[in-house]
Order: sequence, then C-alpha cells, then structure tokens
Amino acid sequence: MPQTRPVVLITGGSRGIGAAVARLAATRGYDVAINFKSDREAATHVLEACHALGARTVACQGDMTVENDVVRMFDEATAALGPISHVVNNAGITGRSGRLEATASDVIRSCIDINVLGAIWVAREAARRLSTRHGGIGGSIVNISSVAARLGSAGEYVWYAASKGAIDSLTIGLAQELAVDGVRVNAVSPGITRTDIHEKSTGDAGRMERFRSKIPLNRVGEPEEVAEAVLFLMSDAASYITGANIPVSGGR
Ligand code: NAP
Repeated sequence: MPQTRPVVLITGGSRGIGAAVARLAATRGYDVAINFKSDREAATHVLEACHALGARTVACQGDMTVENDVVRMFDEATAALGPISHVVNNAGITGRSGRLEATASDVIRSCIDINVLGAIWVAREAARRLSTRHGGIGGSIVNISSVAARLGSAGEYVWYAASKGAIDSLTIGLAQELAVDGVRVNAVSPGITRTDIHEKSTGDAGRMERFRSKIPLNRVGEPEEVAEAVLFLMSDAASYITGANIPVSGGR
C-alpha cells in the first residue's frame, strides 16, 4: 500500500519541546517516530498520546552523540513507519549554569557533544535518507536552536550559546546544500520555554520566574507554542522557506 501520511522523526522527543512537537505532528496527520536517550517511560507516554490521535508510532532509544545510534535510529524508524519525510533535530542540554572560568571541561564537552556533534550526525543522516539525490522522498529538517545564540548567555552558559550559534550556521549552509535535493532546512529559536531543561540540565529551577520580567510578553513560552512554529516550517505552507530561523521568544 503506498505511504499516504508523512513521517516525522524527532530526536529528544520524550519530554519538553520534542514531546510537544510529537503530539502536534500527530494532530496534523503525521506518523511519529521519537528518539529518547534514557527515559523510556516518558517516551511511551508521548507515543500513547500520539497513537490516540491516530498516528502510527515508534520509539527509538539512542544517544545522539554516538554515530552508530543515529544510524540505527533512522533504520528502526524507517522499518516501522516507512520512508522518513521530516526530521526535527531537537535533543539538547545546557549543562550546569555558571561563569565559563568556573565550569569544568566535562560539562562543556557534554554540551558540545550533543548540541553540536549530535545535531550534525543527525543532520548528515537526514541528508542521506531524505535527499532525492540519494533516492529519498525529499522533505524538511527543522533544527532547534535558541535565542541564546544571539544573546550570548553571559554568566549562565556561554558554551551553550556558542553551541546554538553552530546550529544557526548549520541551518544556513545545509539549506543551501540540500535545496536542489528536495529538502528544506530551517531552524526555530525558542526563548525561555517551560520544560525540565531549567531544573534538570541547568540546575536552576527558579530561572523561568527570574527571567520573566526580561521577556517583553512578560511570561515564559510553552512547548506547544514552539511546536506550532516547527509544524509550520515542516508544512507545505512553508514550501518557499529554507534557511530561515524563527524566534519563538516572546519578543526577547
Ligand atoms: P528537555 O525537556 O530537557 O528534554 C530534552 C530531551 O532531549 C529529552 O527527550 C532527552 O531524552 C533528550 N536528550 C538529551 N540528551 C540526549 C542524547 N544525548 N541523545 C538523545 N536524546 C537526548 O529539553 P527541552 O527544553 O525540551 O529542549 C529541547 C531543545 O530545545 C534543546 O535543543 C534545547 O537546547 C532547546 N531550547 C530549549 C529552551 C527552553 O527554554 N526549554 C530554550 C531554547 C532552546 P531523555 O529524557 O531520554 O534523556
């Protein structure tokens, strides 16, 4: 039977922004593959919600810093759901917040490993699978960056801001590289969004409330608001948009 529904693969789809993208994609008629690293229970909950919305689903465990895991994830998702048409490059961490001179090398290395190298491994595999040049069906990639790339995150995590600067460059270059191969590449740059990242990765549970007054819209964003921008860029409504970067940051 020919494939009729588009298939999206979302890295780090078990929680936060990735989970919101998965749920909205299911609502909009996509079949959904989510990757998670450690929290299988959270991934299962997300996929149950997607399934209830009518999507075919699969969860793929894998550490996106490991090249073999990235390839296996694409293989598993394709075997379960058919050719992948959209990839959301979302998995990421910040590392404990602090000034650069006080931050240990392993904290910085872990962040660069997943946010930069991991994202590049995923983008490379997406290019190999989606490009019409390699027999793929075309589609789009959405990279999750951050407004930190232009704000710099002084005193918090400048290494994280730098990692997202790399994502912005990746988006511009890969969009040009894949434009003739049927693949659009765009980014979404969230501002402060209500997820576990602030408590679990940054180690700063009060951060969202503390920063509220610096956000022109005077509130933090919800993951569902970021997901709307991602789904727009994935959709045919964005058919002439590639290399773009949409801030979803309440004006910050
Ligand atoms: P989150 O709630 O902490 O969720 C992170 C997700 O990434 C989880 O599903 C986690 O899976 C997965 N993950 C982490 N390391 C991984 C690895 N090595 N391999 C595979 N998966 C991995 O984070 P979030 O706030 O939704 O952030 C998602 C993206 O948005 C990140 O790129 C982040 O930098 C960006 N962003 C977030 C904000 C914000 O304020 N929340 C603002 C700007 C940008 P497990 O739970 O299984 O480990």
